[in-house]
Amino acid sequence: MTETIALVTGANRGIGREVSRQLAAKGVHVVMGARDPQRGEKAVAEFKAQGLPVESIELDVTSQASVENAAAEVERRHGRLDILVNNAGIALDWVPASELTVDALEKTLETNVVGAFRVTKAFLPLLKKSKRGRIVNVSSRIGSLTVNADPNSSLAVRNQLLAYSASKAALNMITIHFANLLKGTGIKVNSGNPGFTATDMNRHTGTKTVEQGARTPVRLALLPDDGPTGGVFSDEGPEPW
Ligand code: NAP
Repeated sequence: MTETIALVTGANRGIGREVSRQLAAKGVHVVMGARDPQRGEKAVAEFKAQGLPVESIELDVTSQASVENAAAEVERRHGRLDILVNNAGIALDWVPASELTVDALEKTLETNVVGAFRVTKAFLPLLKKSKRGRIVNVSSRIGSLTVNADPNSSLAVRNQLLAYSASKAALNMITIHFANLLKGTGIKVNSGNPGFTATDMNRHTGTKTVEQGARTPVRLALLPDDGPTGGVFSDEGPEPW
């Protein structure tokens, strides 16, 4: 049986690292993307010591050259890609919208939206060489227009994180457009919401462990051929856009 090849962006720590570990533990060969090669190598070395099938690749989602180099390198090493997990992300604006700076907004959109688009576009030719391509965009319930517009929503961070929320709403639109575009090709594209997970992003205040947070992205990465495409999901099932 041919092995399944996955690429996870932002894989050196947090949810991306754990998604990589869980996929590798299921026998998937995981190419772990990291913008800092040393940090990437460190994570890979830890997993290799556990016998997991992983390798590292330098990949900064905000750099066109870095992403193109990574795509060329994955093609050289493996000739195709079966799973792409767009996980790399930042959350800078833990302030009300009135205090959000233009700089923070631009940086957030550049990483979380343009970055995910850039990586998807660059790796699409390799995904098309797969028999069953899967794209998972790691999103957030905070990016749901429905939840944000609900006056009774219990989201603790309401009125904060406009840049981050907008970036995840836009990421969900990327999911919908690529899912529509790729219908009938065998490539499935979905957004996965990890839930509030204890990582550096929220100074470890999240209520879920990374093991729990990684579950939905991993499930979507390994969807069977009759699984959904063009949806947004959490551990609890389909989520509102
Ligand atoms: P994290 O611990 O802060 O890790 C973020 C990862 O993204 C790091 O590996 C970081 O690399 C990488 N990254 C940032 N900018 C990058 C760039 N330009 N190019 C490549 N990699 C880059 O955050 P996390 O909580 O694991 O978040 C992972 C994903 O889950 C994000 O998309 C986040 O929005 C999403 N999410 C998180 C939660 C949560 O509660 N934690 C909830 C919903 C969704 P460096 O080490 O080099 O900085």
